[in-house]
Amino acid sequence: MQEILTNLGIKKQNSGAFCGEWLETKGKEIESISPINGELLAKVSQAEKQDFETVITEAEKAFKIWRMIPAPKRGEIVRQIGLELRKHKDDLGKLVTLEMGKILSEGLGEVQEMIDIADFAVGLSRQLYGKTMHSERPIHRMYEQWHPLGTIGIISSFNFPVAVWAWNAFIAAVCGDAMIWKPSSKTPLTGIAVTNIVQKVMEKNGMPKAVFSLVIGRGSTIGESLINDRRVSLVSATGSCRMGYRIGEVVGKRLGSCILELGGNNAIIAMEDTNMELALKAILFGAVGTAGQRCTSTRRVLIHEKIYDNLVSKLKSAYSTINIGNPLDSDVLMGPLIDKSAVALYEDALQKIQKQGGKIICGSETLSGKNYESGCYVQPTLIEAKAELPIIQDETFAPILYLIKIQNIDEAIEIHNDVPQGLSSAIFTNNLIYAEKFLSHFGSDCGIANVNIGTSGAEIGGAFGGEKETGGGREAGSDAWKAYMRRQTNTINWGKEMPLAQGVEFDV
Ligand code: NAD
Repeated sequence: MQEILTNLGIKKQNSGAFCGEWLETKGKEIESISPINGELLAKVSQAEKQDFETVITEAEKAFKIWRMIPAPKRGEIVRQIGLELRKHKDDLGKLVTLEMGKILSEGLGEVQEMIDIADFAVGLSRQLYGKTMHSERPIHRMYEQWHPLGTIGIISSFNFPVAVWAWNAFIAAVCGDAMIWKPSSKTPLTGIAVTNIVQKVMEKNGMPKAVFSLVIGRGSTIGESLINDRRVSLVSATGSCRMGYRIGEVVGKRLGSCILELGGNNAIIAMEDTNMELALKAILFGAVGTAGQRCTSTRRVLIHEKIYDNLVSKLKSAYSTINIGNPLDSDVLMGPLIDKSAVALYEDALQKIQKQGGKIICGSETLSGKNYESGCYVQPTLIEAKAELPIIQDETFAPILYLIKIQNIDEAIEIHNDVPQGLSSAIFTNNLIYAEKFLSHFGSDCGIANVNIGTSGAEIGGAFGGEKETGGGREAGSDAWKAYMRRQTNTINWGKEMPLAQGVEFDV
């Protein structure tokens, strides 16, 4: 463990703010404790209000330099950051596992996602296209162009402690923005490690290091400073719906922009012709992967009555084989939850489920004893449920899966959409009509809708995000970059007349 921390520049005691250099922060200490075994990894002194002021001042200065660098050259810097991440993939992936608790292949996968989005952003740096239009006025030219936006805030959740930042940061960087990252205070060390990696590249190239700034502190303190500050043109925030409501309100009040990536309540519909082998794999990864702590985790499976008993019995036996333990061990599929408060939420949800009439099919224990001393390990749980259970409307951030019987595609889609969130969704079928209906405008109401693929594990090439309480934001691929730039429409008169649009006459 110590070797990994040293390789990534993590000290026993770390500063909680970076803006070209590490500041001497004096805020309350955060202890980063590994949920694997309760071991202290390192400490961080949180940033305070005055630190935030220094950080934003430096980020603003950096923006003025960075926006003058041509976009493809900014892309070249991101390319080098991608190379540096490749060198550190092993250590950083392990640190993600140590600090957050996801299994190592997922920790490494998260770093791979950073590398992939870096590659995407490099190409994008030469494709920040605007459109040209034909002007209605003679000898006029009309077009639109995209300019850097300014200093942006990136607020990230604990469950993807490094990838979420990269989805935003690499796109924002090629777009010419400077950024201030506020990671979750549950995973501060991964934020420090990434900042160390990036700064090496900035320094080597003589670039302003405050382009990639960092502040560590609680949402209610340093997070509030960031969202309330008018100098932050865009706040891209990933986290719970509760947090999204607060950020939407504060940033909306000052007419700033937001990208909100909030909670999910994702369902898989398994129709009567489901390919069981595919569905089983997708459901297991979706519900048990990352211990049910992904925004895209599968929370509900809506199963056609003709295959209900068969699929439930297959799931039950698969659940009994899941190895729960140290996520660094290669034969373990499920590690711990992030902390004991997450375990308390899991236990509380199970009580509510039973009170409301849900039936536990398997797995409802919080594990204790040897290998589970941290108190953060729980069993993945299968629940037989009716769609009307009030708790189904909530996202419990734990491996609890509701199994609901359905009779036909229309009922399935209705139940599917009857939750406040709208992130990811899937259907398993080979029936063209079912699949097309699910993908149609009266089908799934989610930002992501898949056929014969689970809800979890999106690729970076598409725009990622969801509807309804999930917040409506889009990140990563496709044209998500447009949110990180400001659009300008330009009309140029290169003639000798001054005609007005819409034929208006105004001659003096
Ligand atoms: P959280 O809402 O507790 O915290 C997320 C971040 O918001 C943290 O950095 C936190 O400090 C910050 N924050 C909280 N209140 C704030 C405030 N008033 N001002 C500024 N910042 C504030 O979420 P979490 O427990 O870290 O993450 C889990 C949640 O994130 C789940 O709901 C999950 O579905 C969601 N999530 C969504 C996506 C997505 O892309 N849609 C991706 C990952 C996670």
